[in-house]
Amino acid sequence: MRSKQFLVIGVGRFGGALARSLYRQGHEVVVIDQNDEKVERIMDEVTHALIADSTDEDVLREIGVGNFDTVVVSIGADFEASIMTTVASKNLGARHLVAKATSETAAAVLRRIGADLVVRPEHDMGLRLAQQLTTPELVDAFNLGEDHSVIEVEANGRLTGSLSELRLPNRFSVQVIAVNRDGNVVVSPSADFEIVRGDNLVLIGNNEAMERFRSFLSE
Ligand code: ATP
Repeated sequence: MRSKQFLVIGVGRFGGALARSLYRQGHEVVVIDQNDEKVERIMDEVTHALIADSTDEDVLREIGVGNFDTVVVSIGADFEASIMTTVASKNLGARHLVAKATSETAAAVLRRIGADLVVRPEHDMGLRLAQQLTTPELVDAFNLGEDHSVIEVEANGRLTGSLSELRLPNRFSVQVIAVNRDGNVVVSPSADFEIVRGDNLVLIGNNEAMERFRSFLSE
């Protein structure tokens, strides 16, 4: 994977964890925070850490906010600062901007002023945990646009046999796109592919279909 350049603005718990993790994965990570203690704490774990106020356009211009692959604005408590930083970054050419929001209203505003993606860590994690707790077989899930998702489930007794016998597209409108058996991944498995207990299936479908499929799985 090509190493990417990230700018993380605000290194609280969320921004800090994100920045450290991206850096450990081999990416170039520049962080900005107005709090000198936070900057000192993270300094050795990212490419470059800077004490600055991100609502100051000159700071963003100097750092070249438009040159990063992704800019993450992870300021939550000070909503005004989050808005000003987002608007200024987009105006100065930020290509892909992810903003952290602490409420639904804040998320709507951030989307409106140009954030390309808005995350609500507590809220999003709550939804994810609810899914995991109600479908123990669920390994992973992510949204594909507003209406569709891709999920990975571990096959239990309800999900064994050949794909043609299981007829998942007919019964649930979900499609198996890959099967992972002990690390060996079969992409677009054929109709006679036999699913055995413990296989990890990667499925795609719309959210309602996924919901029906997941309830069937955990019945
Ligand atoms: P978390 O839950 O991730 O810890 P939080 O929402 O509790 O975050 P915030 O108050 O949102 O904490 O701040 C996140 C970080 O953003 C803090 O480290 C704070 O110093 C920094 N920050 C806030 N405003 C600015 C600003 N204008 N410029 C630079 N950094 C800022």
